[in-house]
Amino acid sequence: MKAVKIVKPDDLKIIDMEKPAIDERDNVLVKIRAAGICGSDVGIYHGKNAAATYPRVIGHEMVGDVVEIGGGVTKFKVGDRVIIDQVTACGHCYACRKGRPNVCADLQVRGVHIDGGYREYMAVPESDCYRLPDSLSYEDAVMIEPTTIAVQACSRAQVTFEDDVLIIGAGALGSSILRIVRLYHPRKIIVADIEEGKLKEALEHGATDVIDSRTEDVAERAHQLTDGYGPTVVIDAACFKGSFLTACQCAGNAGRVITMGFGVDPDEINQFVITSKELDVRGSRLQNRRFQTVIDLIGQGQIDLNGSISHRFYFQDAQKAFDFNDTHDPSIRKIVLTFD
Ligand code: MN
Ligand code: ZN
Repeated sequence: MKAVKIVKPDDLKIIDMEKPAIDERDNVLVKIRAAGICGSDVGIYHGKNAAATYPRVIGHEMVGDVVEIGGGVTKFKVGDRVIIDQVTACGHCYACRKGRPNVCADLQVRGVHIDGGYREYMAVPESDCYRLPDSLSYEDAVMIEPTTIAVQACSRAQVTFEDDVLIIGAGALGSSILRIVRLYHPRKIIVADIEEGKLKEALEHGATDVIDSRTEDVAERAHQLTDGYGPTVVIDAACFKGSFLTACQCAGNAGRVITMGFGVDPDEINQFVITSKELDVRGSRLQNRRFQTVIDLIGQGQIDLNGSISHRFYFQDAQKAFDFNDTHDPSIRKIVLTFD
């Protein structure tokens, strides 16, 4: 079978690889039908993801059909349409015991530490698969994964109806978070970004206010918009150098600041900005078994992922897809690789 391998940073190759065999206990063999391109895949391709190891078959937003099942499989049958969880964990470390396998001490993320979804077949335990809603195409279904990331961030932030929420960044991550934050009916949802078009879209998708961070001081404006108090939840979905400090400056007393970035450039930050307001600063990494939650939200009609995909490329044209992504064409929302 064919796969897309990042041999080393900036070196993408279509390779031949042995088709995986299922282990006869709990594995299912999934024929991949669509796989999303995510910012982190681009980061691994360009050598900007400190967690990644090379060479690597990347891709962690992967959906397909079950085409073979092991003897011990009980939840799935051949022909089921599934999405595969990217998180694999040891199951017994402190984090795993606390129900947080997404930060397992021996975390192995598909497409990052172990081979991922840009290949024709994957053999995975059935417990890592979730049945797709009939209403979603394979391509749109890749959006379930980014949505799980948003659910994770909102859960870490403990958003309630009493909160004023600020989302810094209206890109792919920020707009997924906006989609989920709305479901908590907070008092305000403020979105900050540097692109007017994205701010306009945020308003169309439920933001109550927007801040143009090119022309406005984000912390000052965020305070104005919340009667001087400051947003009680700030989610940093922009993750650039300086955004963490901005997030802490924006947050109101007793608020929560959620970090999602993997940047290693230091932000200069003093303790006062955190201690004086008794902020909770919480990381949100990947997702903690949130796929069923998202699938249920789709089933209840709370979210609609149809029509999310802006561009499609055949997986063996992955080089073209990544090159196109690098153009940062404003029409890009989500690129998917297709397999037939
Ligand atoms: Mn992703
Ligand atoms: Zn563990």
